Amino acid sequence: MTVVRFAPSPTGRIHIGNARTAILNWLFALKTGGSFILRYDDTDVARSTQEFADGIAADVAWLGITPTRVEWQSKRFDRYAAVASALRAAGRLYPCYETADELERRRKRMQARGLPPIYDRAALKLTDAERARLEAEGRRPHWRFRLDGRDVQWHDLIRGPQHVNTANLSDPVLVREDGSYLYTLPSVIDDMDFGVSHVIRGEDHVVNTAVQIEITEALGGAVPAYAHHSLLTGADGKGLSKRLGALSIAAMRADGLEPMAVVSMAALLGTSENIHPCPDISELVAGFDLGKLSRAPARFDERELLHLNARLLHLLPWTAVKDRLPGESEAFWLAVRGNVERLTDAGLWRQVIDGPVADVTAPEDRSFLTEALALLPSEPWTGDTWKAWTEAVKSTTGRKGKTLFMPLRLALTGLDHGPELAALLPLIGRVAAAQRLQPGR
Ligand code: GLU
Repeated sequence: MTVVRFAPSPTGRIHIGNARTAILNWLFALKTGGSFILRYDDTDVARSTQEFADGIAADVAWLGITPTRVEWQSKRFDRYAAVASALRAAGRLYPCYETADELERRRKRMQARGLPPIYDRAALKLTDAERARLEAEGRRPHWRFRLDGRDVQWHDLIRGPQHVNTANLSDPVLVREDGSYLYTLPSVIDDMDFGVSHVIRGEDHVVNTAVQIEITEALGGAVPAYAHHSLLTGADGKGLSKRLGALSIAAMRADGLEPMAVVSMAALLGTSENIHPCPDISELVAGFDLGKLSRAPARFDERELLHLNARLLHLLPWTAVKDRLPGESEAFWLAVRGNVERLTDAGLWRQVIDGPVADVTAPEDRSFLTEALALLPSEPWTGDTWKAWTEAVKSTTGRKGKTLFMPLRLALTGLDHGPELAALLPLIGRVAAAQRLQPGR
């Protein structure tokens, strides 16, 4: 049984990059029949809010993800404290008293000497008496995990064989001076306790993985499989960070995009497959394979997303949209779906159908329209009416091609582009069509 998790911090809303992580986990769970945990990494109680958590839950639901289980790190502090005690007892978690300033000075000195700025483990050498003195001065310890300093290896399901030598890393701080936890330890404990089998996350966590594997092993836990996907860049090739607000899932939803356009994009970006609209998740599940993800950064282009949204809408049947187009009909949707970028654009075509439409007829086309009006068939109108009518107009007037069709389109819609007139004409109806063909209306 596979278990994956998506672990956002509720210190903001999720954006397309986080959504991609969520979707990859979701597809993996669906493909393997496993479960999906939504885990709020809210150990930073000062910056985490219920409002952001609720927003993330809404974003995740909008994307079509239904977590099997929801967990909050803030509800598990007792458990983390117990594990931290065990690590202390085992000598893997040790108290350090340096202030941020002291550490910074030390880092600079090492850099000046051409040494890597790795924590020197000075605190490990403190005697009991020295520690007591520091505590008497009012200093509170933060706690570091003593790394093995070895070549940690794993087979990454996206990046292939990986190794990180933890001798090149500073012993990570797991518990802050105020007793709060950094993300590293709670994440390991949760992954162990919840039986997480696969950790699928961004490659910004590759180094963390080496540390977390060491912690997992120190705790006697089963090391999960890891898959680190590349990060997204903007269309300009630069990181997304500056415009994250605009790229939030909430903004995309407010902008009227279809969730499956976002999901299709998130699932296929940076894979060997063409980015194409998938109206249904099952197609994405069938084609899903972590091995298809490229290690190169994937470019996210908002214009491409809008284009994908349009392509998706063109495929959607009436049943998929009818609840969101109250008062409309299937005939209306089939007429206009090829000419909308967002579903809300359908309203613009409703206005064109209902009128009034601008009178943009060129003076030289007036008499042509009068002839066309005289040939307008009587109702009922069907999808064949346009063809029958324009054939009659063609043989009477001798016009063909663009000179035949464009004046009719301009008169009937006020626009030089739009849905097929064969589908639009019956929706406009004879009364309105006749009125729009009228000279000097
Ligand atoms: N809260 C972490 C993040 O958003 C989770 C990383 C992980 O998946 O372990 O980066």
